Amino acid sequence: MKHLKSIFSLILFCLILSACKSSNKTIVEDDMINTWVEEDDNMPKNIILMIGDGMGLTQISAGMYRLGNQTNLEKFPVVGLQKTHAGDELITDSAASATAIATGQKTYNGAIGVDMDTLPLYTFLEEAEDNELATGLVATSTIVHATPASFISHNPYRRNYEEIAADFLKTEVDLFIGGGKKYFDNREDEQNLLEQFGDDYQISHFVEAELEDIIIDPDKNFGYLTSNKDPLPVSQGRDYLLTAAKKSVDHLAKRSDKGFFLMIEGSQIDWGGHANDMEYIISEFIEFNTVIGEIFEFAKEDGETLVVVTADHETGGFAIQTESTMDTLVGSFTTGKHSGTMVPLFAYGPGSEHFAGIYENTEIYHKMRQAIGWSENKDNEK
Ligand SMILES: [Zn+2]
Repeated sequence: MKHLKSIFSLILFCLILSACKSSNKTIVEDDMINTWVEEDDNMPKNIILMIGDGMGLTQISAGMYRLGNQTNLEKFPVVGLQKTHAGDELITDSAASATAIATGQKTYNGAIGVDMDTLPLYTFLEEAEDNELATGLVATSTIVHATPASFISHNPYRRNYEEIAADFLKTEVDLFIGGGKKYFDNREDEQNLLEQFGDDYQISHFVEAELEDIIIDPDKNFGYLTSNKDPLPVSQGRDYLLTAAKKSVDHLAKRSDKGFFLMIEGSQIDWGGHANDMEYIISEFIEFNTVIGEIFEFAKEDGETLVVVTADHETGGFAIQTESTMDTLVGSFTTGKHSGTMVPLFAYGPGSEHFAGIYENTEIYHKMRQAIGWSENKDNEK
């Protein structure tokens, strides 16, 4: 009887154990589902989009080797690849690709925030403004150059710099930092746009003050022009991007309770590619990498910021040659123009899960909208 009882308890024990095991399994599955749903609900308040112009995988790799085989991009858990082709040509320029990222529509090379028929498109930055987010643009080119321009301006041709500069007055952009002062105050129409920004803006430039010395008034929008024409390369002394990034995040966070959208461009990685100059590419990448690290740390601390780092296209058909070592890289180039290779994308923070996989550059716009919880827009013609 005693023996039978212990067999009985053993069977009972096994039954309970298997029940626990199977219920455990259910809990784990439920947890996974719950976590996924929670992450979906966990929308970012802020989005920081960082575009390395012309920053293909080889540009990243060369910079990474120079930095002792490491880059801050390794901190990003989500990696994707995007297809860069323009609406009219396989090989895109910065205007068509930035417009694709800013508006979700493919367009022709040279187009700034307009579609194939030159009609203006509603940009992510404009929608952010309309949703009462603070917005900002930072570049190491002129601020009217293709990449920043495509987020704020609508122009059939990228080199209409003075017209693009005038578009800055039509927005409520909370911050812009980049070169190109002359397109604002030394214009063919002899207007001085810097004087037209009005009391809502605190405007300054490199002649007046160093960016790092400026105390930005949190009650005003802020604009700072870093040079008269194109800013210098890093190797010739340009060093404002890290300061600009820190000040931008700080300022934009104060401007709206609803969050902010900031685009930061490492503009001259592209120019190194056009010049087929590996050292130019590497020095520009290293600066951008430092800023990526700074932004990553901000987002990590903040917990409500989605960071997306990508490129608009690759430049130079850049390759690292067989005789290279980690310390002595030998680069070669197949073109002085852009190439048609896919470019990588790195995402971190709430909403980053949307960015895994392979997709068109236009999807970046849709994924950012999805991440931040804006309703699906069927038509974004302005
Ligand atoms: Zn280019």
